[in-house]
Amino acid sequence: MDKVFVERLRLPARVGVYSHEKGREQPIELDIEVDFDGGLEQAARSERLRDTINYEKLAKAARRVVDERHFPLVETLAAEIAKSVLQLRSVHRARVRLRKLGCLEDAAAAGTEVVLEHSADQKSPMELAELETALASATLEPIVVIGSGVAGLSAMLWVHRLGHRALLIDAATSLGGQLRQVFFRMTDIPGMHPINGNDLASRLVAQLPRSFRWLRARVEHVEAETRQCAIDLEVAGQRRMIAAEAVIVCSGWRRRQLGLTSEQRFFGRGILATASKDIGFVRGERVVVVGGGDAGCENALKLRRAGAEVVLVHRRAQLSARKEFRRALDKHSAGISQRLGVQVVALHGDEHLGQVELSNGERIEARWLLSRIGWEPNGELLPPRFRDERGYARVNARLLATDGGTEQQKRLFVAGDLRNPIVPSVATSMGDGACAAKAAVELLEQLR
Ligand SMILES: Cc1cc2nc3c(=O)[nH]c(=O)nc-3n(C[C@H](O)[C@H](O)[C@H](O)COP(=O)(O)OP(=O)(O)OC[C@H]3O[C@@H](n4cnc5c(N)ncnc54)[C@H](O)[C@@H]3O)c2cc1C
Repeated sequence: MDKVFVERLRLPARVGVYSHEKGREQPIELDIEVDFDGGLEQAARSERLRDTINYEKLAKAARRVVDERHFPLVETLAAEIAKSVLQLRSVHRARVRLRKLGCLEDAAAAGTEVVLEHSADQKSPMELAELETALASATLEPIVVIGSGVAGLSAMLWVHRLGHRALLIDAATSLGGQLRQVFFRMTDIPGMHPINGNDLASRLVAQLPRSFRWLRARVEHVEAETRQCAIDLEVAGQRRMIAAEAVIVCSGWRRRQLGLTSEQRFFGRGILATASKDIGFVRGERVVVVGGGDAGCENALKLRRAGAEVVLVHRRAQLSARKEFRRALDKHSAGISQRLGVQVVALHGDEHLGQVELSNGERIEARWLLSRIGWEPNGELLPPRFRDERGYARVNARLLATDGGTEQQKRLFVAGDLRNPIVPSVATSMGDGACAAKAAVELLEQLR
């Protein structure tokens, strides 16, 4: 992924909660790293400074914040710097690592790291009040698209292009679905320069008309009745029903979880979301990686390269990853140990993860865990008759939900990974979104 960074920028700052820290400056050191739209390719070709991020501007943004006032906490100072950097044109993610030098007797530095992402390329979701007004006045939404991944955004684009309006619903804080987890540049999207997930999500959102509406809500259930679809959802902690003439469900996939009761407790307190994003935490630490497939092994190698000591846990007696990953693991056997034929059965710790317990009784002392045990479809919102035994949606050639027999739901369409265990990809999801949108619009036009 393309980045611009400034390393070890040394500044005098007024920071600290203690009385002896008030009214005096002490040295801090900053690493600032940004991801930006467009990438370096364009700048490399044009050789123009305006096509990249001028690192002097990064340093200036940081100096401006540091000079502003006294900051009791390094966390606030780092977050303010990240916010200020995010204001720079085309920056969509800023990572700021702040070290307070000499503040601990036996340490060179102590500090914090924050990562902030832009959502400016994304429209703000509707307020609850706005939804209430819409619910009170409108009888029926024409088309509702559930899920803002590639399939959902493609469906939105096509519905609008075909002259209709659609409401987009997604439970996430940002639009883009799985794309927000693709940090490398994808090279298999036909006709497109290699692009990372964030940039692609930004482009897809930017292609929608400014007037499009989206509601941040979790859909619990969708039912297609004869004259309309009923959408049961939770928005801002409240249950609501929306009716629509047609619904396109694009709720995609999610990472499979370990399924342990203690798991929720340690999200953000030891359980890493991604190796790429959280790599800053793990240097010199022990990390348990669960899953011996491609993703597990790739992440184990990534974490090892970042300086972690890795314990790779896999439930089978042999790793299932590709040969290239298994070979690479053999090379790194000093820093990556393996526990095969066992499963994680419990996580222990107080405020933070401390130990990982395996099915053979072993307890591994580890403050960090990353799980990569596969994916599962987000199909629960569909009536069970439209899902196969693995949870994928069943559809016919027009992407209408079907029970696999004769029954087809004429108002309920499904697009993207949720119906595609065979080639879950950007290209197929884009195509699906277009097909489902066209079919939904045709349905509306027939009915009117
Ligand atoms: C790490 C990684 C690398 C990848 N690499 C590639 C690659 O190189 N090439 C390629 O072609 N593809 C790649 N993919 C796959 C590709 O990103 C997906 O196939 C595609 O983005 C799927 O889009 P989707 O719209 O079907 O679903 P998703 O992107 O999964 O979007 C589903 C959306 O629905 C929302 N949602 C789910 N349930 C509900 C609910 N009940 N209520 C409200 N909202 C809900 C979710 O919040 C989410 O935003 C990769 C994926 C990952 C994670």
